[in-house]
Amino acid sequence: MLALAKVSLLVAALGHFVESHPPTHYSPWLRPRVEAHPCDGISGRNSSWHAQAEKVGVVVVGGGVAGLTTAKTLVDNSISDVLLLEAQDYLGGRVRTYRQEGVVVEEGAEWIHGGWRNPVYRIAVAIDGVDTPLPDEAFDWRVVTHEGVPTDKTRYEVVETLRDVCERSDDVLLAYYGLAYGQCFLDKFEGEYGPGYDSELGEGWLHYLEQIVNGEEGTESWLDIAAREADKYPDLGYDFQWKSGYDTLFQYYEASIPASKIKLNSPVCRILWDEGDDQVLVVTQSGTSYLASHVVVTASFGHLKERHTNIFEPPLPESFSKHFGHLDLGVSNKIQLGWTEPWWGSKPLDLDIIWTSQDVPLDRLWLYDIVNVASVHSAPNVLQMFVMGKDSKNMENLPKETVLEHVMYLLKRVTQQDVPEPDFFHRTSWYNNPWTRGAYETYITLWGDHQGLKGHDPITVPLKNSQGRQVVFWAGEHTHSTRYGTVDGALQTGEREGYRLLDLLRPGKNA
Ligand SMILES: Cc1cc2nc3c(=O)[nH]c(=O)nc-3n(C[C@H](O)[C@H](O)[C@H](O)COP(=O)(O)OP(=O)(O)OC[C@H]3O[C@@H](n4cnc5c(N)ncnc54)[C@H](O)[C@@H]3O)c2cc1C
Repeated sequence: MLALAKVSLLVAALGHFVESHPPTHYSPWLRPRVEAHPCDGISGRNSSWHAQAEKVGVVVVGGGVAGLTTAKTLVDNSISDVLLLEAQDYLGGRVRTYRQEGVVVEEGAEWIHGGWRNPVYRIAVAIDGVDTPLPDEAFDWRVVTHEGVPTDKTRYEVVETLRDVCERSDDVLLAYYGLAYGQCFLDKFEGEYGPGYDSELGEGWLHYLEQIVNGEEGTESWLDIAAREADKYPDLGYDFQWKSGYDTLFQYYEASIPASKIKLNSPVCRILWDEGDDQVLVVTQSGTSYLASHVVVTASFGHLKERHTNIFEPPLPESFSKHFGHLDLGVSNKIQLGWTEPWWGSKPLDLDIIWTSQDVPLDRLWLYDIVNVASVHSAPNVLQMFVMGKDSKNMENLPKETVLEHVMYLLKRVTQQDVPEPDFFHRTSWYNNPWTRGAYETYITLWGDHQGLKGHDPITVPLKNSQGRQVVFWAGEHTHSTRYGTVDGALQTGEREGYRLLDLLRPGKNA
Protein backbone atom coordinates (compact mmCIF):
# COMPACT_ATOMS: atom_id res chain seq x y z
CA MET A 1 0.00 0.00 0.00
CA LEU A 2 2.80 2.32 1.04
CA ALA A 3 4.83 1.39 -2.02
CA LEU A 4 1.82 2.05 -4.24
CA ALA A 5 1.29 5.41 -2.60
CA LYS A 6 4.90 6.31 -3.25
CA VAL A 7 4.57 5.30 -6.86
CA SER A 8 1.49 7.44 -7.24
CA LEU A 9 3.33 10.37 -5.65
CA LEU A 10 6.15 9.94 -8.12
CA VAL A 11 3.72 9.61 -10.99
CA ALA A 12 2.07 12.82 -9.83
CA ALA A 13 5.44 14.54 -9.69
CA LEU A 14 6.28 13.18 -13.14
CA GLY A 15 2.90 14.36 -14.37
CA HIS A 16 3.81 17.87 -13.26
CA PHE A 17 7.13 17.54 -14.99
CA VAL A 18 5.54 16.48 -18.25
CA GLU A 19 2.88 19.15 -18.03
CA SER A 20 5.43 21.86 -17.35
CA HIS A 21 7.67 20.57 -20.14
CA PRO A 22 5.48 20.21 -23.20
CA PRO A 23 7.06 19.21 -26.51
CA THR A 24 8.93 22.12 -28.05
CA HIS A 25 6.44 22.65 -30.85
CA TYR A 26 3.75 23.60 -28.33
CA SER A 27 5.88 26.20 -26.77
CA PRO A 28 7.65 28.65 -29.04
CA TRP A 29 9.64 30.21 -26.19
CA LEU A 30 11.44 26.95 -25.42
CA ARG A 31 14.31 27.66 -27.76
CA PRO A 32 17.89 26.81 -26.89
CA ARG A 33 20.14 29.80 -27.30
CA VAL A 34 23.04 29.11 -29.63
CA GLU A 35 25.41 32.03 -29.77
CA ALA A 36 29.05 32.43 -30.64
CA HIS A 37 31.25 32.65 -27.56
CA PRO A 38 33.25 35.89 -27.19
CA CYS A 39 36.44 33.77 -27.10
CA ASP A 40 35.71 31.92 -30.35
CA GLY A 41 38.13 34.14 -32.30
CA ILE A 42 41.12 33.16 -30.13
CA SER A 43 42.32 29.61 -30.63
CA GLY A 44 45.45 27.59 -31.38
CA ARG A 45 48.76 29.43 -31.09
CA ASN A 46 50.07 32.70 -32.41
CA SER A 47 53.79 33.48 -32.37
CA SER A 48 53.11 37.15 -31.58
CA TRP A 49 51.61 36.12 -28.23
CA HIS A 50 55.02 35.12 -26.91
CA ALA A 51 56.87 37.96 -28.63
CA GLN A 52 54.60 40.69 -27.28
CA ALA A 53 53.79 39.23 -23.88
CA GLU A 54 54.05 41.40 -20.80
CA LYS A 55 55.80 39.68 -17.88
CA VAL A 56 53.78 39.42 -14.66
CA GLY A 57 54.41 37.51 -11.45
CA VAL A 58 50.87 36.29 -10.77
CA VAL A 59 47.84 36.59 -13.06
CA VAL A 60 44.45 36.16 -11.37
CA VAL A 61 41.70 35.20 -13.82
CA GLY A 62 38.31 36.56 -12.72
CA GLY A 63 37.31 39.46 -10.50
CA GLY A 64 34.55 37.86 -8.44
CA VAL A 65 34.92 37.47 -4.69
CA ALA A 66 37.37 34.56 -5.05
CA GLY A 67 39.65 36.44 -7.47
CA LEU A 68 39.52 39.68 -5.48
CA THR A 69 40.34 37.81 -2.28
CA THR A 70 43.30 36.05 -3.92
CA ALA A 71 44.67 39.37 -5.16
CA LYS A 72 44.08 41.05 -1.79
CA THR A 73 45.80 38.24 0.10
CA LEU A 74 48.88 38.53 -2.13
CA VAL A 75 49.05 42.34 -2.12
CA ASP A 76 48.49 42.52 1.66
CA ASN A 77 51.47 40.20 2.04
CA SER A 78 53.84 42.23 -0.10
CA ILE A 79 53.45 40.33 -3.37
CA SER A 80 52.76 43.32 -5.57
CA ASP A 81 53.50 41.85 -9.02
CA VAL A 82 49.89 40.79 -9.48
CA LEU A 83 47.43 41.44 -12.30
CA LEU A 84 43.74 40.58 -12.11
CA LEU A 85 41.99 40.09 -15.47
CA GLU A 86 38.20 40.33 -15.41
CA ALA A 87 36.10 39.47 -18.46
CA GLN A 88 33.21 41.82 -17.76
CA ASP A 89 32.98 45.58 -17.25
CA TYR A 90 32.44 45.31 -13.49
CA LEU A 91 33.96 43.54 -10.49
CA GLY A 92 32.02 41.13 -8.32
CA GLY A 93 30.83 38.46 -10.73
CA ARG A 94 27.82 36.88 -9.07
CA VAL A 95 27.76 39.63 -6.45
CA ARG A 96 26.09 42.44 -8.36
CA THR A 97 23.98 45.24 -6.94
CA TYR A 98 21.63 46.94 -9.39
CA ARG A 99 20.65 50.54 -8.77
CA GLN A 100 18.06 52.57 -10.65
CA GLU A 101 16.63 55.90 -9.52
CA GLY A 102 17.04 55.15 -5.84
CA VAL A 103 15.92 51.52 -6.06
CA VAL A 104 18.57 49.04 -4.86
CA VAL A 105 18.20 45.34 -5.65
CA GLU A 106 20.58 42.42 -5.86
CA GLU A 107 21.01 40.52 -9.10
CA GLY A 108 23.09 37.85 -7.37
CA ALA A 109 23.97 37.19 -3.75
CA GLU A 110 21.64 38.81 -1.24
CA TRP A 111 22.21 37.12 2.11
CA ILE A 112 25.11 36.72 4.48
CA HIS A 113 24.41 33.21 5.67
CA GLY A 114 25.33 33.15 9.33
CA GLY A 115 26.97 35.44 11.88
CA TRP A 116 30.48 35.41 13.32
CA ARG A 117 31.38 32.06 11.78
CA ASN A 118 30.89 33.64 8.35
CA PRO A 119 33.91 35.73 7.23
CA VAL A 120 31.65 37.96 5.12
CA TYR A 121 29.65 38.83 8.23
CA ARG A 122 32.85 39.76 10.06
CA ILE A 123 33.87 42.07 7.18
CA ALA A 124 30.36 43.57 7.00
CA VAL A 125 30.47 44.39 10.73
CA ALA A 126 33.97 45.86 10.41
CA ILE A 127 32.88 48.25 7.64
CA ASP A 128 29.52 48.98 9.31
CA GLY A 129 27.55 47.43 6.46
CA VAL A 130 25.51 44.75 8.15
CA ASP A 131 21.76 44.82 8.54
CA THR A 132 19.29 42.51 10.26
CA PRO A 133 16.32 41.56 8.08
CA LEU A 134 12.78 42.22 9.24
CA PRO A 135 11.31 39.49 11.44
CA ASP A 136 8.72 37.17 9.89
CA GLU A 137 5.93 38.85 11.91
CA ALA A 138 6.54 42.14 10.10
CA PHE A 139 5.27 40.64 6.83
CA ASP A 140 1.77 40.26 5.49
CA TRP A 141 2.10 36.50 4.97
CA ARG A 142 -0.40 35.00 2.57
CA VAL A 143 -0.67 31.44 1.30
CA VAL A 144 -2.85 31.14 -1.77
CA THR A 145 -3.53 28.79 -4.63
CA HIS A 146 -2.48 30.06 -8.02
CA GLU A 147 -6.12 31.11 -8.44
CA GLY A 148 -5.64 33.44 -5.48
CA VAL A 149 -7.75 31.38 -3.08
CA PRO A 150 -6.37 31.51 0.49
CA THR A 151 -5.36 28.06 1.64
CA ASP A 152 -4.50 26.40 4.94
CA LYS A 153 -1.31 28.03 6.29
CA THR A 154 -0.77 25.34 8.89
CA ARG A 155 0.36 23.08 6.03
CA TYR A 156 3.53 25.15 5.96
CA GLU A 157 4.57 23.16 9.04
CA VAL A 158 4.93 20.11 6.76
CA VAL A 159 7.54 22.03 4.77
CA GLU A 160 9.39 23.14 7.90
CA THR A 161 9.33 19.68 9.47
CA LEU A 162 10.59 17.98 6.34
CA ARG A 163 13.38 20.53 6.00
CA ASP A 164 14.36 19.81 9.59
CA VAL A 165 14.33 16.10 8.90
CA CYS A 166 16.12 16.00 5.52
CA GLU A 167 18.32 19.10 5.70
CA ARG A 168 19.32 19.43 9.28
CA SER A 169 19.36 15.93 10.64
CA ASP A 170 22.59 14.21 9.53
CA ASP A 171 21.52 10.74 10.57
CA VAL A 172 18.49 10.78 8.30
CA LEU A 173 20.39 11.78 5.18
CA LEU A 174 23.04 9.15 5.76
CA ALA A 175 20.47 6.55 4.72
CA TYR A 176 20.16 8.37 1.37
CA TYR A 177 23.83 8.29 0.40
CA GLY A 178 23.88 6.91 -3.13
CA LEU A 179 20.46 8.41 -3.80
CA ALA A 180 19.19 11.84 -4.81
CA TYR A 181 18.67 14.47 -2.12
CA GLY A 182 15.05 14.96 -3.17
CA GLN A 183 14.33 11.28 -2.49
CA CYS A 184 14.40 11.97 1.24
CA PHE A 185 11.62 14.56 0.88
CA LEU A 186 9.61 12.40 -1.52
CA ASP A 187 9.78 9.41 0.82
CA LYS A 188 8.74 11.34 3.88
CA PHE A 189 6.14 13.66 2.39
CA GLU A 190 3.21 11.28 2.61
CA GLY A 191 3.83 10.45 6.28
CA GLU A 192 4.14 14.08 7.25
CA TYR A 193 1.27 15.44 5.16
CA GLY A 194 -1.10 12.63 6.02
CA PRO A 195 -4.46 12.09 4.33
CA GLY A 196 -4.83 14.14 1.20
CA TYR A 197 -1.14 14.02 0.32
CA ASP A 198 -2.12 12.86 -3.19
CA SER A 199 -4.92 15.43 -3.60
CA GLU A 200 -4.44 18.48 -5.82
CA LEU A 201 -3.58 20.54 -2.75
CA GLY A 202 -1.12 17.91 -1.48
CA GLU A 203 0.63 17.89 -4.84
CA GLY A 204 0.70 21.68 -4.73
CA TRP A 205 2.50 21.59 -1.38
CA LEU A 206 4.91 18.94 -2.67
CA HIS A 207 5.75 21.19 -5.62
CA TYR A 208 6.17 24.14 -3.25
CA LEU A 209 8.53 22.09 -1.09
CA GLU A 210 10.58 21.02 -4.10
CA GLN A 211 10.92 24.60 -5.30
CA ILE A 212 12.06 25.77 -1.84
CA VAL A 213 14.72 23.04 -1.88
CA ASN A 214 15.67 23.91 -5.48
CA GLY A 215 15.96 27.54 -4.40
CA GLU A 216 18.38 26.58 -1.65
CA GLU A 217 20.45 24.16 -3.67
CA GLY A 218 20.21 26.03 -6.96
CA THR A 219 19.17 22.79 -8.64
CA GLU A 220 16.79 22.36 -11.55
CA SER A 221 15.34 19.33 -9.80
CA TRP A 222 15.93 18.02 -6.30
CA LEU A 223 16.65 14.67 -7.94
CA ASP A 224 19.76 16.13 -9.64
CA ILE A 225 21.91 16.60 -6.55
CA ALA A 226 23.36 13.67 -4.62
CA ALA A 227 22.19 13.37 -1.00
CA ARG A 228 25.82 12.82 0.10
CA GLU A 229 26.71 16.19 -1.45
CA ALA A 230 23.78 18.10 0.07
CA ASP A 231 24.67 16.65 3.46
CA LYS A 232 28.10 18.30 3.43
CA TYR A 233 26.79 21.84 3.42
CA PRO A 234 27.01 23.31 6.94
CA ASP A 235 24.34 25.72 8.14
CA LEU A 236 26.07 28.74 9.73
CA GLY A 237 22.92 30.10 11.33
CA TYR A 238 20.80 33.22 11.02
CA ASP A 239 20.86 35.19 7.74
CA PHE A 240 21.91 38.86 7.55
CA GLN A 241 21.88 41.43 4.80
CA TRP A 242 23.75 44.55 3.73
CA LYS A 243 22.39 48.00 4.60
CA SER A 244 23.28 49.57 1.26
CA GLY A 245 23.86 46.76 -1.19
CA TYR A 246 26.11 43.69 -1.31
CA ASP A 247 28.64 45.69 -3.32
CA THR A 248 29.56 47.52 -0.09
CA LEU A 249 31.82 44.49 0.30
CA PHE A 250 34.09 45.89 -2.41
CA GLN A 251 35.21 48.72 -0.12
CA TYR A 252 37.11 45.97 1.67
CA TYR A 253 38.98 45.06 -1.52
CA GLU A 254 39.45 48.60 -2.82
CA ALA A 255 41.32 49.48 0.37
CA SER A 256 44.03 46.94 -0.56
CA ILE A 257 44.18 46.41 -4.30
CA PRO A 258 45.41 49.37 -6.36
CA ALA A 259 43.24 50.05 -9.43
CA SER A 260 46.34 49.61 -11.63
CA LYS A 261 46.39 45.90 -10.74
CA ILE A 262 42.94 45.28 -12.23
CA LYS A 263 41.96 45.14 -15.89
CA LEU A 264 38.25 45.01 -16.71
CA ASN A 265 36.89 43.89 -20.11
CA SER A 266 39.78 41.43 -20.38
CA PRO A 267 38.40 37.94 -20.96
CA VAL A 268 41.09 35.29 -20.76
CA CYS A 269 40.63 32.97 -23.73
CA ARG A 270 43.80 30.86 -23.70
CA ILE A 271 46.03 29.56 -20.91
CA LEU A 272 49.13 27.75 -22.25
CA TRP A 273 50.52 26.35 -19.06
CA ASP A 274 53.63 24.41 -20.04
CA GLU A 275 55.60 26.93 -22.10
CA GLY A 276 59.12 26.26 -20.83
CA ASP A 277 61.06 28.37 -18.31
CA ASP A 278 58.17 27.68 -15.95
CA GLN A 279 56.07 30.32 -17.63
CA VAL A 280 52.35 30.35 -18.33
CA LEU A 281 51.11 32.25 -21.36
CA VAL A 282 47.77 33.96 -20.79
CA VAL A 283 45.96 35.42 -23.80
CA THR A 284 42.91 37.67 -23.68
CA GLN A 285 40.13 38.13 -26.22
CA SER A 286 41.87 41.20 -27.71
CA GLY A 287 45.05 39.15 -28.27
CA THR A 288 46.92 40.86 -25.42
CA SER A 289 49.25 38.34 -23.81
CA TYR A 290 51.01 37.90 -20.48
CA LEU A 291 53.81 35.59 -19.42
CA ALA A 292 53.22 34.75 -15.78
CA SER A 293 55.05 32.60 -13.24
CA HIS A 294 51.73 31.61 -11.67
CA VAL A 295 48.09 31.86 -12.66
CA VAL A 296 45.11 31.57 -10.34
CA VAL A 297 41.93 30.65 -12.21
CA THR A 298 38.76 31.77 -10.42
CA ALA A 299 36.40 31.81 -13.41
CA SER A 300 32.93 30.44 -12.66
CA PHE A 301 32.38 26.71 -12.95
CA GLY A 302 29.74 27.10 -15.69
CA HIS A 303 32.26 28.88 -17.90
CA LEU A 304 35.04 26.37 -17.18
CA LYS A 305 32.77 23.42 -17.83
CA GLU A 306 31.75 24.84 -21.20
CA ARG A 307 35.15 26.18 -22.31
CA HIS A 308 38.00 24.34 -20.61
CA THR A 309 38.93 22.39 -23.74
CA ASN A 310 39.32 25.70 -25.65
CA ILE A 311 41.14 27.53 -22.89
CA PHE A 312 43.83 25.16 -21.62
CA GLU A 313 46.82 23.81 -23.48
CA PRO A 314 47.92 21.14 -22.72
CA PRO A 315 44.40 19.87 -21.93
CA LEU A 316 43.53 19.52 -18.28
CA PRO A 317 44.35 16.17 -16.65
CA GLU A 318 41.62 13.56 -16.73
CA SER A 319 40.83 14.04 -13.02
CA PHE A 320 39.63 17.55 -13.93
CA SER A 321 37.63 16.69 -17.01
CA LYS A 322 35.95 13.83 -15.13
CA HIS A 323 34.87 16.22 -12.39
CA PHE A 324 33.79 18.89 -14.86
CA GLY A 325 31.48 16.33 -16.39
CA HIS A 326 29.91 15.26 -13.11
CA LEU A 327 29.44 18.57 -11.38
CA ASP A 328 26.77 21.06 -12.35
CA LEU A 329 26.11 24.72 -11.72
CA GLY A 330 22.45 25.45 -11.04
CA VAL A 331 20.43 28.22 -12.68
CA SER A 332 18.19 30.48 -10.63
CA ASN A 333 17.02 33.91 -11.68
CA LYS A 334 15.33 36.86 -10.05
CA ILE A 335 12.53 39.08 -11.29
CA GLN A 336 11.91 42.38 -9.52
CA LEU A 337 9.02 44.83 -9.97
CA GLY A 338 8.70 48.18 -8.19
CA TRP A 339 5.96 50.77 -7.62
CA THR A 340 5.97 54.20 -5.98
CA GLU A 341 3.29 52.97 -3.59
CA PRO A 342 2.81 49.39 -2.34
CA TRP A 343 -0.57 48.45 -3.88
CA TRP A 344 -0.73 45.25 -1.77
CA GLY A 345 -1.05 47.06 1.57
CA SER A 346 1.06 48.82 4.15
CA LYS A 347 3.07 45.81 5.36
CA PRO A 348 5.80 44.09 3.35
CA LEU A 349 4.35 41.16 1.43
CA ASP A 350 5.34 37.50 1.65
CA LEU A 351 3.06 35.50 -0.62
CA ASP A 352 3.41 31.75 -1.09
CA ILE A 353 1.78 30.17 -4.14
CA ILE A 354 0.47 26.62 -3.93
CA TRP A 355 -0.15 25.48 -7.48
CA THR A 356 -3.23 23.31 -7.34
CA SER A 357 -3.67 22.70 -11.05
CA GLN A 358 -1.84 23.47 -14.23
CA ASP A 359 -4.40 25.42 -16.19
CA VAL A 360 -1.88 28.10 -17.06
CA PRO A 361 -1.74 29.06 -20.73
CA LEU A 362 0.91 27.02 -22.52
CA ASP A 363 2.89 30.07 -23.54
CA ARG A 364 3.56 30.97 -19.90
CA LEU A 365 4.01 27.60 -18.22
CA TRP A 366 7.36 28.75 -16.85
CA LEU A 367 5.40 30.67 -14.21
CA TYR A 368 4.89 27.30 -12.50
CA ASP A 369 8.50 27.60 -11.29
CA ILE A 370 7.60 30.64 -9.16
CA VAL A 371 6.22 29.76 -5.72
CA ASN A 372 6.88 32.95 -3.76
CA VAL A 373 6.53 36.70 -4.21
CA ALA A 374 8.09 38.82 -1.47
CA SER A 375 9.00 42.41 -0.69
CA VAL A 376 12.68 43.21 -1.01
CA HIS A 377 14.29 44.10 2.30
CA SER A 378 16.28 47.05 0.94
CA ALA A 379 13.42 48.28 -1.27
CA PRO A 380 10.03 47.78 0.42
CA ASN A 381 8.08 48.90 -2.67
CA VAL A 382 9.75 46.23 -4.80
CA LEU A 383 8.44 42.67 -5.09
CA GLN A 384 10.87 39.91 -5.98
CA MET A 385 10.31 36.44 -7.37
CA PHE A 386 12.85 33.67 -7.78
CA VAL A 387 12.56 31.60 -10.92
CA MET A 388 14.19 28.35 -9.98
CA GLY A 389 14.05 24.96 -11.50
CA LYS A 390 13.69 23.70 -15.00
CA ASP A 391 12.30 26.76 -16.72
CA SER A 392 14.64 29.38 -15.33
CA LYS A 393 16.87 29.10 -18.42
CA ASN A 394 13.84 29.33 -20.69
CA MET A 395 12.62 32.49 -19.00
CA GLU A 396 15.93 34.11 -19.97
CA ASN A 397 15.15 33.58 -23.64
CA LEU A 398 11.86 35.44 -23.47
CA PRO A 399 11.85 39.14 -24.34
CA LYS A 400 11.73 41.39 -21.29
CA GLU A 401 8.27 42.72 -22.22
CA THR A 402 6.91 39.17 -22.40
CA VAL A 403 8.33 38.31 -18.96
CA LEU A 404 6.71 41.46 -17.58
CA GLU A 405 3.37 40.62 -19.20
CA HIS A 406 3.49 37.08 -17.78
CA VAL A 407 4.38 38.06 -14.22
CA MET A 408 1.72 40.77 -14.22
CA TYR A 409 -0.75 38.05 -15.21
CA LEU A 410 0.51 35.94 -12.29
CA LEU A 411 0.38 38.78 -9.76
CA LYS A 412 -3.20 39.69 -10.69
CA ARG A 413 -4.25 36.07 -10.50
CA VAL A 414 -2.63 35.21 -7.17
CA THR A 415 -3.52 38.42 -5.36
CA GLN A 416 -6.92 38.96 -7.00
CA GLN A 417 -6.02 42.65 -6.71
CA ASP A 418 -5.86 45.44 -9.18
CA VAL A 419 -2.15 45.53 -9.95
CA PRO A 420 -0.94 48.80 -11.51
CA GLU A 421 1.81 48.83 -14.13
CA PRO A 422 5.17 48.89 -12.33
CA ASP A 423 7.61 51.81 -12.51
CA PHE A 424 10.56 49.48 -12.14
CA PHE A 425 11.22 46.12 -13.76
CA HIS A 426 14.37 44.04 -13.75
CA ARG A 427 15.20 40.41 -14.43
CA THR A 428 18.46 38.47 -14.43
CA SER A 429 19.91 36.12 -17.05
CA TRP A 430 22.64 34.19 -15.29
CA TYR A 431 22.69 31.32 -17.76
CA ASN A 432 22.94 33.41 -20.92
CA ASN A 433 25.91 35.27 -19.41
CA PRO A 434 28.87 33.50 -21.10
CA TRP A 435 31.09 34.25 -18.08
CA THR A 436 28.86 32.57 -15.52
CA ARG A 437 26.58 30.08 -17.36
CA GLY A 438 24.64 29.63 -14.16
CA ALA A 439 23.92 31.13 -10.75
CA TYR A 440 24.55 28.86 -7.77
CA GLU A 441 25.62 26.34 -6.58
CA THR A 442 28.21 23.96 -8.07
CA TYR A 443 27.19 20.52 -6.85
CA ILE A 444 28.04 16.86 -7.44
CA THR A 445 25.24 15.33 -9.43
CA LEU A 446 23.65 12.01 -8.54
CA TRP A 447 25.39 10.54 -11.57
CA GLY A 448 28.72 11.90 -10.34
CA ASP A 449 28.07 10.33 -6.95
CA HIS A 450 27.52 7.00 -8.68
CA GLN A 451 30.82 7.49 -10.53
CA GLY A 452 32.60 7.73 -7.19
CA LEU A 453 33.03 11.52 -6.88
CA LYS A 454 33.29 12.27 -3.19
CA GLY A 455 34.07 15.97 -3.12
CA HIS A 456 35.38 19.05 -4.89
CA ASP A 457 39.00 18.60 -3.77
CA PRO A 458 40.34 17.05 -7.02
CA ILE A 459 39.57 20.32 -8.89
CA THR A 460 41.61 22.33 -6.39
CA VAL A 461 44.90 20.52 -7.09
CA PRO A 462 47.43 22.92 -8.68
CA LEU A 463 48.58 22.00 -12.18
CA LYS A 464 52.25 21.04 -12.42
CA ASN A 465 54.17 21.70 -15.62
CA SER A 466 56.53 19.14 -17.16
CA GLN A 467 59.32 20.33 -14.81
CA GLY A 468 57.11 19.46 -11.85
CA ARG A 469 56.49 23.10 -10.87
CA GLN A 470 53.05 24.20 -9.66
CA VAL A 471 51.92 26.85 -12.13
CA VAL A 472 48.10 26.98 -12.22
CA PHE A 473 45.96 27.30 -9.09
CA TRP A 474 42.20 27.16 -8.61
CA ALA A 475 39.79 29.22 -6.52
CA GLY A 476 36.07 29.99 -6.72
CA GLU A 477 32.94 28.78 -4.97
CA HIS A 478 33.07 25.51 -6.92
CA THR A 479 36.41 24.65 -5.30
CA HIS A 480 35.09 24.81 -1.73
CA SER A 481 34.45 21.40 -0.25
CA THR A 482 31.47 22.38 1.92
CA ARG A 483 30.42 26.04 1.43
CA TYR A 484 30.24 25.88 -2.39
CA GLY A 485 27.64 28.22 -3.82
CA THR A 486 28.21 31.00 -1.31
CA VAL A 487 30.09 34.28 -1.09
CA ASP A 488 31.87 33.18 2.09
CA GLY A 489 32.88 29.92 0.38
CA ALA A 490 34.31 31.87 -2.59
CA LEU A 491 36.15 34.20 -0.21
CA GLN A 492 37.73 31.32 1.69
CA THR A 493 38.98 29.69 -1.52
CA GLY A 494 40.62 32.99 -2.55
CA GLU A 495 42.41 33.10 0.80
CA ARG A 496 43.36 29.43 0.51
CA GLU A 497 45.05 29.91 -2.87
CA GLY A 498 46.57 33.25 -1.88
CA TYR A 499 48.26 31.61 1.11
CA ARG A 500 49.24 28.56 -0.93
CA LEU A 501 51.07 30.88 -3.33
CA LEU A 502 52.59 32.92 -0.52
CA ASP A 503 53.97 29.76 0.94
CA LEU A 504 55.48 28.87 -2.42
CA LEU A 505 56.90 32.35 -2.98
CA ARG A 506 58.50 32.53 0.46
CA PRO A 507 62.18 33.51 0.21
CA GLY A 508 64.27 30.38 0.16
CA LYS A 509 61.49 28.28 -1.31
CA ASN A 510 62.21 27.45 -4.94
CA ALA A 511 58.93 28.45 -6.58
C1 LIG B 1 20.93 34.76 -8.02
C2 LIG B 1 22.03 34.44 -7.03
C3 LIG B 1 21.75 34.47 -5.68
C4 LIG B 1 22.76 34.16 -4.76
N1 LIG B 1 22.49 34.29 -3.42
C5 LIG B 1 23.50 34.13 -2.53
C6 LIG B 1 23.31 34.49 -1.18
O1 LIG B 1 22.24 34.96 -0.79
N2 LIG B 1 24.35 34.31 -0.31
C7 LIG B 1 25.56 33.81 -0.72
O2 LIG B 1 26.47 33.65 0.12
N3 LIG B 1 25.76 33.48 -2.03
C8 LIG B 1 24.78 33.65 -2.93
N4 LIG B 1 25.00 33.41 -4.25
C9 LIG B 1 26.26 32.75 -4.66
C10 LIG B 1 27.45 33.70 -4.70
O3 LIG B 1 27.09 34.88 -5.37
C11 LIG B 1 28.60 33.01 -5.42
O4 LIG B 1 28.86 31.74 -4.83
C12 LIG B 1 29.90 33.80 -5.35
O5 LIG B 1 29.69 35.17 -5.61
C13 LIG B 1 30.87 33.20 -6.36
O6 LIG B 1 32.07 33.92 -6.38
P1 LIG B 1 33.26 33.44 -7.32
O7 LIG B 1 34.32 34.46 -7.23
O8 LIG B 1 33.58 32.03 -7.02
O9 LIG B 1 32.64 33.40 -8.80
P2 LIG B 1 32.05 34.58 -9.68
O10 LIG B 1 31.34 35.57 -8.84
O11 LIG B 1 31.29 33.95 -10.77
O12 LIG B 1 33.35 35.29 -10.25
C14 LIG B 1 34.05 34.80 -11.37
C15 LIG B 1 34.49 35.99 -12.19
O13 LIG B 1 35.29 35.50 -13.26
C16 LIG B 1 34.97 36.22 -14.42
N5 LIG B 1 35.36 35.38 -15.55
C17 LIG B 1 34.78 34.23 -15.99
N6 LIG B 1 35.47 33.73 -17.02
C18 LIG B 1 36.52 34.55 -17.22
C19 LIG B 1 37.59 34.57 -18.16
N7 LIG B 1 37.73 33.61 -19.08
N8 LIG B 1 38.48 35.58 -18.09
C20 LIG B 1 38.38 36.55 -17.15
N9 LIG B 1 37.38 36.60 -16.26
C21 LIG B 1 36.47 35.61 -16.29
C22 LIG B 1 33.48 36.44 -14.32
O14 LIG B 1 33.07 37.53 -15.12
C23 LIG B 1 33.33 36.73 -12.83
O15 LIG B 1 33.46 38.10 -12.55
C24 LIG B 1 24.04 33.77 -5.20
C25 LIG B 1 24.32 33.76 -6.57
C26 LIG B 1 23.33 34.11 -7.48
C27 LIG B 1 23.67 34.16 -8.93
